[in-house]
Parts: sequence; structure tokens; C-alpha cells
Amino acid sequence: MQTYPPAAAVAAVDLVKVYGTGDTAVRALDGVSVGFDRGRFTAIMGPSGSGKSTLMHCLAGLDTATTGQVLLGGTDLTTRSDRVLTKVRRERIGFVFQSFNLLPQLTAERNILLPLDLAGRRPDQEHLDRLVTTLGLAGRLGHRPSELSGGQQQRVALARALVTRPEVLFADEPTGNLDSRSGAEVLGLLRDSARDLGQTIVMVTHDPGAAAYADRVVLLADGRLAGEIHQPDIASVTDALQTLASAR
Ligand code: ADP
Repeated sequence: MQTYPPAAAVAAVDLVKVYGTGDTAVRALDGVSVGFDRGRFTAIMGPSGSGKSTLMHCLAGLDTATTGQVLLGGTDLTTRSDRVLTKVRRERIGFVFQSFNLLPQLTAERNILLPLDLAGRRPDQEHLDRLVTTLGLAGRLGHRPSELSGGQQQRVALARALVTRPEVLFADEPTGNLDSRSGAEVLGLLRDSARDLGQTIVMVTHDPGAAAYADRVVLLADGRLAGEIHQPDIASVTDALQTLASAR
């Protein structure tokens, strides 16, 4: 089995995704090879339609590639059945989305514990306490989502995503529904999760301000890798996106 690149928590190897057939076929990913190192926070950026969501969905086992490989740890997801992929998503991957996707009838605490309940696992109380404290949710555990602000709801969603200690946390425009202050809080928490807990994070965003929280930005254009930025700041990300846009 291919083990490229060795330090990666998750990697794409020559990944191709074609939607449709014949004249209407769209090559959403056109041979992408990229690794996401353990314990690092990486943002995927690029113009609209460049393949960001498709790449994330393939990496997370939510969609299957046409050719190429997705390696999660030692597991090649591209050869696995739907049943195995469901188990991988549930046990080895965490998700946060733009819409918080909490269950409205459950308290914050029950929402956070849901992935463990589904897997029939007991919570690691120390890990749970640390998450709840770090995410500032200690006084909110008995509240239902409708009783929480957007920022609080996204922090509950983050706790739910991290409670299983996933190998990779995927975040899809996690601040898209938040005001700038709550958004900055959530992004700071993502950054801290990588730094303090060694959490691997892959985030799709179109916002240079959000990407500046990451350790690294991977740029896509027309379904291909179009560069990367280490230790990004808003200016370097904005410049890179402008260069990509003017090259089209
Ligand atoms: P991004 O997230 O960067 O905006 P996407 O990954 O959503 O880009 O889309 C990449 C390309 O694939 C676009 O041309 C888009 O129209 C196309 N695409 C995405 N999803 C589908 C789909 N389910 N069916 C057909 N084409 C799709």
C-alpha cells in the first residue's frame, strides 16, 4: 500500500473526480496529490468552483473519487464499502459545518455526547471536561440549541466533533453563519485545538481572515493544486487569491 506522504493524517493521491458523463462531464478534481500533516490546521482555498468542497468531501469519505486514493492514516478509503465508510466517518472523523446541525430537541450536553451514544462508547470524563471548559460551555450544558447564540451553537458542534478524538476534524465554512466576533472565537478555538490538543484540522473557507488562523493554506484552481502558503496572514492569502483570479 502507498504510504505517501508519511506524516499525513489524511492525504489525497492523484485524486480525480468527474461529475456526469460525455459532453456535460465536469472534472471537479483533476489529479490532486496533497497531504495534511498531523496536528496542523490547514485551510483549503480557491475561487468558487475550484473543487474545494469536492476535495473535502472525498477526503472525509462523504463522496467517492473517480480515480486516485484517499489515505486516512493507513486506510485507503477509496477501496472501502459504504458500510465501512459510515463507520470511519462516525469513529475517526469529526465534522463542523456552516449550519451547526445540532438536534433541536436535545440539550447541549446530549448533542455533544451523541457520537459516543451512537457508537455505544462511554465518555472519557477528563477529555469531556476539558473540551467543555476550553469551549466555554460549562454553564450551557442544559440548554437546548434554540436557547443558545450562533457562536455558542457552533462551539457545541465543535465539542460534539471533538468528543470522539477524531483523527481529522473537517470544517466546512465553519464561521459562515456567525458574526465576526463569534467567528473569531470559533477560529481561535480551532487553532488552539491544533496547537494544544494536536488535533489535525482541514477547513474549507473563502474568507482570507479565517484562513489566516491556519498554519498552512492549500490553494486550488480548476480542480488542481495551485500553490500553498505557510504561516499565512490576510495579506498573503488575499494576494494569492487575486493572482489566481486574474490568471483565469
Ligand atoms: P468549490 O467548493 O471550490 O466552490 P466544488 O467542489 O463545489 O467547488 O465544485 C467543483 C466543480 O464541480 C464545479 O464546476 C461544480 O459545478 C462541479 N460540481 C460540484 N458538485 C457537483 C455535482 N454534484 N454534480 C455536478 N457537478 C458538480
